[in-house]
Amino acid sequence: MEKLRKKTVFLLDMDGTIYLGDELIDGAKEFLDTIRESGKRYIFLTNNSSKNKEIYVEKLNKLGIGANKEEIFTSGEATTMYLNGKKPGARIYLLGTQALEEEFEREGFILERQRHRDIDYVVLGFDTTLTYEKLWGACEYISQGVEYIATHPDFNCPLANNKFMPDAGAMAAFIEASTGKTPKVIGKPNKEIVESIISKYNLDKDDMVMVGDRLYTDIKTGENAGITSVLVYSGETKEDDYARSEIRADYVFDSVKDMVRLLKSQDIDNLAFG
Ligand SMILES: [Mg+2]
Repeated sequence: MEKLRKKTVFLLDMDGTIYLGDELIDGAKEFLDTIRESGKRYIFLTNNSSKNKEIYVEKLNKLGIGANKEEIFTSGEATTMYLNGKKPGARIYLLGTQALEEEFEREGFILERQRHRDIDYVVLGFDTTLTYEKLWGACEYISQGVEYIATHPDFNCPLANNKFMPDAGAMAAFIEASTGKTPKVIGKPNKEIVESIISKYNLDKDDMVMVGDRLYTDIKTGENAGITSVLVYSGETKEDDYARSEIRADYVFDSVKDMVRLLKSQDIDNLAFG
C-alpha cells in the first residue's frame, strides 16, 4: 500500500469506475477531490473513440465533477498521436464518427473517402455511422496490404440497464472474416495508449497508476505498459470473475471510495514529516 500511496498520476477508467451509466459511483467525487487536494492529478482514459472530449466534460460536469478537456484522453487521440509519430499528414481511410473525423483532420491527416486511391492507413474507430460501403472499402484496402489500425478492441460498449452497443471490436471481426487480417490496436489494453499519455503530459511511469473495473482492458493495460494497476469491483468485474482470471491487478478495492482513506493518510504523513 505504501507504494500506491506515493503515486501521483491516476489514469481513470470512467464507466464502472467513476460512474455507472448516468449515476456517480458512491465516493467517486470525494476520491477525485482528494487526489486534487493532495496536489496529485487524474486523467480520464476512455477507449470510446466515437465521442469527442466535450461530451465527456459535459457528462462529468452534469454528475457534479468539474472536469476539463485536458483531463480527458481517448483512444482516438492516442491513435492520432501514434500516427503522427509514424507519418504526419498521412492519407487515411477512416471508419469513424464525424467527431473522430474532425479530430483526425485537426491533427493534419488527409481523409480519403473514396475507394481505389493511394492511401497510407485504414483506421477503424467506434463508427456509429458505419455503412456497408465503408466496410467494403476498408476490406478492399486492407486485403491489398494497406496498414490497418484500430483505436480500441472492445466488442461491446455498455449502456444503462445491462444493454450494449456493438463496438469497434465487432466491426474488426467482420473485417477479419472478409480479409483474414487483424488490426494493430492502440487503445486499452495496449501500451501505445499509455505511451501517448506519457508523451503528451510528460509523465513518469513510476508515478502512474491505472484504475479500472475491466480486467482485459484496464488491468491488462497496467501489465502491458508496465504501470501499477488497481481493480475496483464497482463495475463489470465481480470477486468471482477475478478469482477465475489469470490477469492480476496490483491492488484491489471495492470501489474508489475505499482509496480515499489511503490517499488522505498520505497527507497526514506529509504533515508529520514534511
Ligand atoms: Mg469501465
